[in-house]
Amino acid sequence: MRLAWTLALLLSGTVSAQPADITAKSAVTELSADAKPTRVGAIDCVTGTSARPSQSHIRSGAGIFGEELAAAESSSIPADGSLVTYTTFDGKQQLQLRQYNGKYVAFLISDADLALTSLQFIRRQIDRYDRVYTYLRDFLGEEPAGDGLLRIAVVDDSPASFGWVGVKGVETSQAWFNSYQEGRDLMYTVVKHEMIHNFDHLSSFLFNAPDPAHSWTDFMQPYLEVYNRQGFTDESSVQPEEWLRIMTDQFFTSFLSFPGRTWLTCVQNAACDGNNMAQHAQGGLVLRVAQAYGTANMKRWYPIAQQMVTSRNLSSTSMTGVQRNDLLFESLSKTTGDSLACFADSITWPISDSLRTTLSVMPSSARVNRFETLPDGIY
Ligand SMILES: [Zn+2]
Repeated sequence: MRLAWTLALLLSGTVSAQPADITAKSAVTELSADAKPTRVGAIDCVTGTSARPSQSHIRSGAGIFGEELAAAESSSIPADGSLVTYTTFDGKQQLQLRQYNGKYVAFLISDADLALTSLQFIRRQIDRYDRVYTYLRDFLGEEPAGDGLLRIAVVDDSPASFGWVGVKGVETSQAWFNSYQEGRDLMYTVVKHEMIHNFDHLSSFLFNAPDPAHSWTDFMQPYLEVYNRQGFTDESSVQPEEWLRIMTDQFFTSFLSFPGRTWLTCVQNAACDGNNMAQHAQGGLVLRVAQAYGTANMKRWYPIAQQMVTSRNLSSTSMTGVQRNDLLFESLSKTTGDSLACFADSITWPISDSLRTTLSVMPSSARVNRFETLPDGIY
């Protein structure tokens, strides 16, 4: 059965239209021998977990360039503007959609939906998603699994969107066209969110329940706009560092300021602000580290974490909560070159004695702990 999702928007002053709960179709996926994404199960984004595709299918950051892309384009990518048969994620519909190609993404839309907007709108969307793809690949050093272009398909008119976790593929709705016509571009915000799910290979290793896939987007979605120096756009002119401050305050400071807050109470037991705080505090703490150590350092994080997962042959399904915390804090400490053990202690995030010993040989500037007192402009 096709899963339906409700979209809630946070509307706060001039900084609006930040999706609070655009959903991913967090799905257990694998790639079959012919490298076509195959869904073998779909679970509720809010309560379920996601599984990453096998490591052998994750390509290197440089893999999309050169002969590989040229070969893919010449062999299997439909011609720009051609009609293709598209099977929806739930496998229940086969739609005749027109495919428009970008460099890394393709936009698929029916002629009927295209009549509601314009080809100019579609081309602009493709350009924006190509930029999202480029920046995510550059920052993360990895790409989603799956060959060919990342397909973004307009499949229905309900205000929901879906994205595979770790694998190329987004489904969205023509309901977002109206926001663009009203001078906003919610479709861009929505599809960007889903693409960030596509690039997610590690959330189930780094974050704990209730929703690791969205703890990941809580970090990556705002931070993408810091990394690409864009800031929050379309409806406002919030600068990158200000945008980072706003979102860190929203996701992390609310945890810090909660009376009696502890990881056990607010995250593991979700007994403070329920699942919202349990989810947001995890992505929010990474935003706080990013505030203190800057983009040049943070760009090291994902490759370091990926290398740790691979070299240790970790299995996300068998990790305990503290083991995920350990991976998060060890990878962030290696990323920053600064032990974050005292940061973990200051926010009551439990880490193991073993990791504490490992980190004890590293410098410990407590920079992230002192962040609130650092002069403006130092990040
Ligand atoms: Zn989502």
